[in-house]
Amino acid sequence: MTRKPDVIVIGAGLFGAFTAWHLARAGLSATIVDRGWLGAQSSGANFGNLRLQGRMPAQYALSLLAQEFWEDFEAQIGEGCEYDRTGHIYFASSEDGRKTLLKYLAASNENGLVVEALGPEDLARLVPGISPAIKTGSYSDRCATANPRLATPAVCRSFLRAGGTLEQGWHVSDVRREGDGFVVTSQDGRTMSSAVVVNAAGNWAGAFAESFGEAVPMFGAGPPQFVTEPLPYILRPVLQAVEGDVIVRQIPRGNFIFAGYPRTRSNADGEHTFVPPQKIRAGMAALCRAMPGIAGADIIRSWSGVEGYLPDMLPVIDRSRTTQGLFHAFGGSGGGFQIAPAVGIALSALITGSEPLCDLTPYRIDRFGSDLVASEKIGKEFDRD
Ligand SMILES: Cc1cc2nc3c(=O)[nH]c(=O)nc-3n(C[C@H](O)[C@H](O)[C@H](O)COP(=O)(O)OP(=O)(O)OC[C@H]3O[C@@H](n4cnc5c(N)ncnc54)[C@H](O)[C@@H]3O)c2cc1C
Repeated sequence: MTRKPDVIVIGAGLFGAFTAWHLARAGLSATIVDRGWLGAQSSGANFGNLRLQGRMPAQYALSLLAQEFWEDFEAQIGEGCEYDRTGHIYFASSEDGRKTLLKYLAASNENGLVVEALGPEDLARLVPGISPAIKTGSYSDRCATANPRLATPAVCRSFLRAGGTLEQGWHVSDVRREGDGFVVTSQDGRTMSSAVVVNAAGNWAGAFAESFGEAVPMFGAGPPQFVTEPLPYILRPVLQAVEGDVIVRQIPRGNFIFAGYPRTRSNADGEHTFVPPQKIRAGMAALCRAMPGIAGADIIRSWSGVEGYLPDMLPVIDRSRTTQGLFHAFGGSGGGFQIAPAVGIALSALITGSEPLCDLTPYRIDRFGSDLVASEKIGKEFDRD
């Protein structure tokens, strides 16, 4: 018999999981379908940064809404995900970087996030062993980290406890409008129908959007990441170069986790992102310039992930502009882990017809118009050695 929940959510990443969780709380029956395992793509592979400073001004409302949820994650979800209010430091090692840092600082403070300027003594206190050549920084104590491997499973378990259903190994091959709803078909011929469909299929969401006449200039990419052997625990905040070449945090077990730069375009099959060895070497060299004591540490693992990027680095969170009952949440563009709780709040509000709590205009699906080649420009930036 064909199952008929109120809502089918395509994608058990964090965007889909949080949307379904909020829908279940609003009393709707929802089923999440995923072609693989929950949280196994970007949502489970990411760096775990819940960074607020340096966000685009247009994104602060959404980011602050999300951070409130992260701060209350354990109480809301019923289990933890190693959320830790570590704080986050930006530092600058060039004059251009210093100007960017001051611009970020002003934008943060104008948009409701308290960020303090740091001088050399503050930096040396917060980052023991930081190079004395680094003299300018900024600090936000509301920034945090969480463990991406734990977050999506926790949200999904909470969703199941609230009465939702989850189908893993359910690869959606077709979504069709039929009567007053949708018929969703899997690659192996199973069907399910619903009044509402949420397209939260990560880097693969563009194909569904396009099939409803809403093509977006999205492309797949991921930052190269690596982790060192455990070293004495000295670094509590996340440390990030405003120039982009260092994003590092240390977990209490001692390992330094590094998110590299620039990002790399995903393979042509869209399923993997290769980690070029030269980007690991360049990342380690940049890290050692900032924290010379790390020189000589062994790197024990490297990885990346496949993430959907849009040219303005903002996601799509919107109702379909062509098809009633279809909703989109995708294109995290490297920052989707942090905003995911608010994506769920906003999209479920759109679906239930309640107040979305923040302005969703920057996230409209039709904001690119016919500019489908814009991704080429930014995409090229991602491949520099
Ligand atoms: C290496 C890396 C590091 C990152 N670091 C950070 C960070 O520190 N902080 C931050 O905020 N963000 C970070 N991000 C970005 C963040 O991880 C993503 O923006 C976010 O997880 C996106 O979640 P999602 O649910 O949209 O996508 P995903 O997690 O990719 O989930 C999409 C799901 O859809 C499923 N799916 C696809 N097609 C189908 C289909 N046809 N049928 C059924 N299911 C389908 C997939 O199997 C997948 O499970 C990083 C990303 C990467 C890759």
